[in-house]
Formats: sequence, C-alpha cells, structure tokens
Amino acid sequence: MLVDYYGRPVGPFVNKPTKELGDATSDIWQGVFQEKMENGSGPVFMNCAENTPEDTEFMMKSFYSEGDTSIVDYLQQYHIDLNQSMIEFGTYDYALCGRGLDIQLSGQTSLEGLYAAGDVLGNVRGDITSAAVFGMISAENAAAYTKTVDFEEVENHPLIQESMDLYNSLLDRKVGAHWKEANSML
Ligand SMILES: Cc1cc2nc3c(=O)[nH]c(=O)nc-3n(C[C@H](O)[C@H](O)[C@H](O)COP(=O)(O)OP(=O)(O)OC[C@H]3O[C@@H](n4cnc5c(N)ncnc54)[C@H](O)[C@@H]3O)c2cc1C
Repeated sequence: MLVDYYGRPVGPFVNKPTKELGDATSDIWQGVFQEKMENGSGPVFMNCAENTPEDTEFMMKSFYSEGDTSIVDYLQQYHIDLNQSMIEFGTYDYALCGRGLDIQLSGQTSLEGLYAAGDVLGNVRGDITSAAVFGMISAENAAAYTKTVDFEEVENHPLIQESMDLYNSLLDRKVGAHWKEANSML
C-alpha cells in the first residue's frame, strides 16, 4: 500500500494491504510520486508492514517468478525486512519504452504489409494486454494481407544474400567474444 510519511494511505483504494486487491493507486495516478514531492506532502512510501508474514513470503517468491530477482537480492543484502520497514518509493519514466512503430487499427504500420504488436509500438500502450490483443489482430490481418499479394521469389535477392553472408560470418566465427560478454555490457 502506498502511504505518506505517517503511514496514511495516499490513494482511495485500500486502507490496509491486501494480497487480493493490491493498491492500484500508482496505476491510476501515475504522477503520484512527483506531484506529492512538488506539493510538499511527499515522499510516498511503499508500506508492506501490515502484510502477514505468509503474504510477504508469497510476494518475495512472486518477485522471483516475475524476474525481479534484483529486488529480492537488494532487500536481503541490506537486511531490509518489508514486514518491519516501509520504504521510499517512486517510478522511472514509464514511457521510456513506449516509443516505436505506429499502427492503424488493423495493426498495419506505415509500411504496407508490415504488421506489428506489443512493446515495439509507439502509439499503443498496455503491456501484456496490448501485446496479446494486437498480437491477435495484427496476425489475423497480416495473414489476410498475404492472400492479396502475389508470391514473389526472394530466395536469391541480393539484399537477403548480403545479410545472410554477414550473419553467417558472425555465427561461423570460431574465435571472438562470447555472447555473454555482449549481454553483460548491455
Ligand atoms: C519484470 C517485468 C514485469 C512485468 N510485469 C507486467 C505485468 O504485471 N503486467 C503486464 O501487463 N505487463 C508486465 N510487463 C510487461 C510485459 O511483459 C510486456 O509488455 C510484454 O511481454 C511485451 O510482449 P511483446 O510480445 O511485445 O514482447 P516480448 O515478450 O519482449 O517478446 C519479444 C520476443 O522477441 C524476441 N526477439 C528479440 N529480438 C529478436 C530477433 N532479432 N530475432 C528473433 N526474436 C527476437 C525476444 O527474445 C522475445 O522473446 C512486465 C515486464 C517485465 C520485464
């Protein structure tokens, strides 16, 4: 539950933490952290202190399942017990990844025949919901589109051959940096 310094809820949704409901405040009022800093009533804290120990354990396991292992590691490393302490909370620019291809309602981009869905979109937000819904819409329309165009033989297209040569030269390399090196640098 998101609370102020005195432990009072900042949103209208819940009065105590519940596993069933969560606290939707930051989903609905995305500027809550910034606005409360600016009007002097911040910072906002995440208060899990009223969770039952069983619910906290469930939450920690869920962090792992979601891939948020660094949160669990951090809490353990700094001996932060969410059942004891509330922690200052915030958000990053949630629109950082919301840039990309624009689609029409059909899922088609500005390039005829290219359909897209999910995180790569610039004009649709909605995470898994949008990835799933537009995944279906775009795929159906892309499939229908393929029936309207003549099949073209592209196997020996020079551009494709050029790309294949480049990628194969990388894939066939016997010496060089391991993929893990690039991954950790990123
Ligand atoms: C920790 C975390 C928690 C999240 N929690 C939620 C949540 O609670 N609710 C919610 O709605 N959303 C959540 N999201 C966001 C949600 O997971 C994404 O919005 C959604 O998965 C996007 O789906 P997508 O198909 O567009 O992209 P992705 O699921 O990222 O799929 C893209 C795929 O393309 C593959 N790929 C990339 N490059 C290439 C290439 N060159 N060739 C072939 N394949 C390639 C990738 O390996 C990947 O499998 C969360 C995300 C994270 C990271």
